[in-house]
Amino acid sequence: MNGDPILLTPGPLTTRLATRQAMLRDWGSRDPAFVALTAELRARLLAVAQGEATHACVPLQGSGTFVVEAAIATLVRPADKLLVLANGAYGERIAAIAGRLGRPAQVLRWPEDRPVEADRVAEALRADPALTHVALVHCETTTGLLNPLAEVAQAVAGAGRHLLLDAMSSFGAIGIDLRSVPVTAVMASANKCLEGVPGLGFALVAREALGRAAGVSPSLSLDLHEQWLGFEKDGQWRFTPPVQVVAALVEALRQLEAEGGPAARLARYRENFRTLLSGMRRLGFELYLDEAVQAPIIATFRMPRGRPLRFASFYDALAARGFLIYPGKLTRAETFRIGCIGALDRRDFERLLGAIEATLAASGPAA
Ligand SMILES: *Cc1c(COP(=O)(O)O)cnc(C)c1O
Repeated sequence: MNGDPILLTPGPLTTRLATRQAMLRDWGSRDPAFVALTAELRARLLAVAQGEATHACVPLQGSGTFVVEAAIATLVRPADKLLVLANGAYGERIAAIAGRLGRPAQVLRWPEDRPVEADRVAEALRADPALTHVALVHCETTTGLLNPLAEVAQAVAGAGRHLLLDAMSSFGAIGIDLRSVPVTAVMASANKCLEGVPGLGFALVAREALGRAAGVSPSLSLDLHEQWLGFEKDGQWRFTPPVQVVAALVEALRQLEAEGGPAARLARYRENFRTLLSGMRRLGFELYLDEAVQAPIIATFRMPRGRPLRFASFYDALAARGFLIYPGKLTRAETFRIGCIGALDRRDFERLLGAIEATLAASGPAA
């Protein structure tokens, strides 16, 4: 893989050469060839979650946060009220978005190492009839924790409310079947488990909810209803599309299919995670989360006790060996993160573990 570093991050992440090669061409954004590519993109994204019968795919320029903000702006009306389920930074970000948009919201919180509990969600919905929507983060990238989507979706649908799912770091690996799991909107982006390059997000939105969303968004560019109408009218993007990013994502989606779909991808990530975890334990690092709630997407480790190791020097030493790790994002514990996603397999993690072992040896013996 040439001289590029191995990215052990939640995205942008290590991509396949073919994905990057798909960007080596210019596309006219209104040309039929690019209109066809956009149609393939939308159809493939919808198919990943089996949403063909019920949902529409609305891609949007920007990073993942742009599409989360657009979905809240478009689907939650000023007279609605959003219940945000938060056990990490991304849940808190949704609450901040609702605040900026002036949408009434209530935040239900759990500690960063605890999953969201569906019975507390059901209770909150019973207690406040004004609540119309619930926002859940599927995999909380802050820690790598997997929230119980099926249970929460049942609680929300059972109470007759709408679920908005931030599936940014799960989509493409952890299965979401829209035929059986009731979700009004799923938001994700190109550069995580889909293994594309950064520059676009997308929402899979129930067509019935999109149809009722005309004129709701206070933003011109972050309006998924108008964005959708543009695609439905002539297959074109409303504003300049990131054409190379689209081309790379279509290539990445073809590779996802060739790999065997999300289940096969998850199996590869799980093998990456198992390799990483057993090696890290051998080297004296502890996983921050209980394994029972850990998704094989990104792992948070505690800095080893009794070792004079600071994140900055650990990072630099690994970067010099070609591996880029990720800082922690926890409010309390001293941690760092290692992503298990991207075009990487077990052998990459074995080499990473060798680099970590060498770094530890160079930093002196444990105290
Ligand atoms: C990556 C991510 C986002 C979006 O972050 P961007 O930096 O805007 O791409 C949102 N939610 C979760 C859970 C994420 O992992």
